Amino acid sequence: MTIFVPAARVSRIKISPTTAAAARVRELKAAGHDIVDMTIGEPDFDTPDHVKAAAHAAIDNGETKYTAVNGTPALRAAIIDDYKRRLGLDYAESEICVGGGAKQILFLALMASVEEGAEVIIPAPYWVSYPDMVIANDGKPVIVACSENVGFKLTPAALEAAITPRTRWLILNTPSNPTGAAYDRAELEVLGEVLLRHPHVMVLSDDIYDQIWFRDEPMTTLAAAVPGLKDRILLTNGVSKSYAMTGWRIGYAAGPAALIAAINKLQSQMSSCPSSISQAAAAHALASEQSFVGESVKLYRERRDYACARLNAVPHLRCLAPDGAFYLYPSCAGAIGKVTPEGKTIESDLDFVLYLLDKGGIASVHGAAYGLSPYFRLSTATSMATIKQACDRIEKACADLR
Ligand code: PLP
Repeated sequence: MTIFVPAARVSRIKISPTTAAAARVRELKAAGHDIVDMTIGEPDFDTPDHVKAAAHAAIDNGETKYTAVNGTPALRAAIIDDYKRRLGLDYAESEICVGGGAKQILFLALMASVEEGAEVIIPAPYWVSYPDMVIANDGKPVIVACSENVGFKLTPAALEAAITPRTRWLILNTPSNPTGAAYDRAELEVLGEVLLRHPHVMVLSDDIYDQIWFRDEPMTTLAAAVPGLKDRILLTNGVSKSYAMTGWRIGYAAGPAALIAAINKLQSQMSSCPSSISQAAAAHALASEQSFVGESVKLYRERRDYACARLNAVPHLRCLAPDGAFYLYPSCAGAIGKVTPEGKTIESDLDFVLYLLDKGGIASVHGAAYGLSPYFRLSTATSMATIKQACDRIEKACADLR
């Protein structure tokens, strides 16, 4: 018999629903089921060979010791150059921190800044981890629904209405997981006008998908669109998505030196630093030639175009074209109230996703997990052949609903 009782902060949160969905897919596949997995939240490409070579070289050169808490000088320099080159943003070394993935950096940023009861505004649909990260750090998530008819994006009026004297952070994720929606410069400027009127609110700008970008105009971010806010923004990013390096676990942030120092203080007591070898690989990925990014984005775009066109032709479904990232967030509103061949009524997006899994062998994640129903998330970080198979099966399953 165990005497272990989890701490209250653990009991308050749940395991990431996307991690749980991926685990379920592995179980079903292991049991011999034919599953088309559309839950995957990581690039299907391998890490580029030249990046792997940089990691081998780091091992051979003896770069196998603890590094500075705020990362190796080479990685910090590569991050600073990348922000300057792509977004025209200037950061000093004291304004950069690194961690074991953007996820760890986001968690540390909240731990460093959120007092009990502090409010964090999270536009929905949101990345599944934000609310639980806020709750684990004693904060209060304030969820603001952003409907499909405003492109799943936060409007200035909705932001204004959500701000209170207790608001600590607004989290903006652009392009977004799960919708792929991204804010353009004009949209960021009007949000900026609201934020400039409320100087106590800081912004966590999660730009992890910013290089997986489909629009003609260049991607931008709040710190570049509204320079007057730069000192109140923590820009988080990482190499996981852009360079197919999820397993290397390197994320980073740029922002006000005092906040960065607080994050580094926590990091010094938490993990000391991320892996020295992964840091060498990440520095190389950011600083060397960038052809991998362009080539993979071309494929992501082809997949998005194909999948969106197919889904929009399926009865009961409707799908907005994402601006970036590698997810689709179709509405299944038309399927709600319909009856399956087994006589079960689809009452929610969870019912719909379970129907797709049971009848079609398609694994996806229901919209309620992202805070906005009735939708479901499909990942296109998988081969075109898999996407075609998924679309065929979704079409068949939807056609069978009465
Ligand atoms: N932010 C968003 C929106 C994500 O989707 C993810 C990963 O799925 C992350 C952050 C974390 O990425 P990592 O910890 O691999 O850098």
